[in-house]
Amino acid sequence: MLTGACFCKAVKYRVLADSALQGLCYCTDCQIVGGSSHWVSYAVAPSDFRLVEGSLKAYAYDSASGREVVRCFCDHCGTQIKVESTALDVVSVNGMTLDDAARFSPQLTYFSASAPRWCEVDNTLAKFEEMG
Ligand SMILES: [Zn+2]
Ligand SMILES: [Zn+2]
Repeated sequence: MLTGACFCKAVKYRVLADSALQGLCYCTDCQIVGGSSHWVSYAVAPSDFRLVEGSLKAYAYDSASGREVVRCFCDHCGTQIKVESTALDVVSVNGMTLDDAARFSPQLTYFSASAPRWCEVDNTLAKFEEMG
């Protein structure tokens, strides 16, 4: 089991299973929302994510792939905690908010073609053009 928290610590959560899909998402949505070249995705089944403290504010929209995506933020400090896709039955947890961030180890990249020019993508990782 892993634990994590937002920047202000109002939101605390648990992840009950180890992720079999740890990836870096370079899609432009993740870039804008996170202010970074990529999102650090610790993906697990929705039933393996438990909110322990605090509350999340959800922002739902249709992604470029046409699937509804829900981005969930701490309603106090705004840290993005997770991204959900019901269609894909997955919750992508913000790997940088894990209490032990060293548990994150990327195996794949999503949408690496949209990585910024100045950003070095690790081409030894498996590439997916699907959501992260
Ligand atoms: Zn917070
Ligand atoms: Zn993304």
